[in-house]
Amino acid sequence: MLAAYHVAPNRLELRETPLPALEPGEALIRVEACAFCGSDKHDLARVPGAPRVPGHEFSGVVDQLAGDAPLSVGDAVCVDPIVRCGRCDHCLSGRDHLCRTMGVVGCQDPGGFAEFVKAPARNLHPKPPGLSFEAATLADPLAVALHAISLVPPVDGARCLVLGAGTIGLLMGQLLQLRGAREVWLADIEEGHLALARSLGPFETVNLATQPTEALPGECDLAVELAGGEAPTLDLAIASLRKGGTALCIAQRPPSQLPYPTMLFSELRLQGVFGQRSGDFAEAVALLGSGQISGEPLITDRFPLSQVQAALDRFLEPTSVKVVTTAG
Ligand SMILES: [Zn+2]
Ligand SMILES: [Zn+2]
Repeated sequence: MLAAYHVAPNRLELRETPLPALEPGEALIRVEACAFCGSDKHDLARVPGAPRVPGHEFSGVVDQLAGDAPLSVGDAVCVDPIVRCGRCDHCLSGRDHLCRTMGVVGCQDPGGFAEFVKAPARNLHPKPPGLSFEAATLADPLAVALHAISLVPPVDGARCLVLGAGTIGLLMGQLLQLRGAREVWLADIEEGHLALARSLGPFETVNLATQPTEALPGECDLAVELAGGEAPTLDLAIASLRKGGTALCIAQRPPSQLPYPTMLFSELRLQGVFGQRSGDFAEAVALLGSGQISGEPLITDRFPLSQVQAALDRFLEPTSVKVVTTAG
């Protein structure tokens, strides 16, 4: 089969490689769609330790099963990429996103930028029939948004600010509205992302490339930081909060100095977010399948797997949102 190996910073190379051998409890999936994730931006920019196959946001069709499984060969599936042990203290206490031996298909294990990929059969969820394989790749980032929102006080009636209107931002904005937020603001530096946001729902938008930071709302109950990197958005998130408000930190960024007195005297809560629980993924599939969260408009670019390098190049352009490779 063909698989795209990360061979140098921002370089993927298609290589012929043997089909993965299955162990009991595993499934072989014929990949129909695989998407680049914001976290891939960090990983793929590095010099790889050894060539490896990335891609943790993928969907496909079950091709082989080893042992008993609740699915059949030929079923269309969404795949939860987080491999949890199910036995450690975190797994047994329901916090399986913090599993002590967690692995991720597409990080520690070969991922979905390939013709075939293997995953534990228990990580497969039937793909709802009305959901495209491409939009099904959004179950993973939506599960992250669901997990994040489960960590904060109810957002019913809240004023919320989302900094960064990329994939998770656009999903998070919709989720906040679904959960009854009174106002949802989305900020970004790409006008295309903000136009996409406005087409998805009644969002207020701020373009921080052309508007001053004073255009951002104040007295927010919740601010979600999704820009990451060196962007000044963590400070903006904290500055936008009302007393007692919460900043959700989802994007990766280097260590930073926090405005400690503001946090202390305004009793702010800073909530880190890492990954998702197994239940979040199932809920994400259901929300995308029912259309309560729209995924299709977020897929801005499609490339066949044979053009995976062109797909990566496009993904690295700031105007793209979700870039997927497809079979064939
Ligand atoms: Zn991801
Ligand atoms: Zn565990």
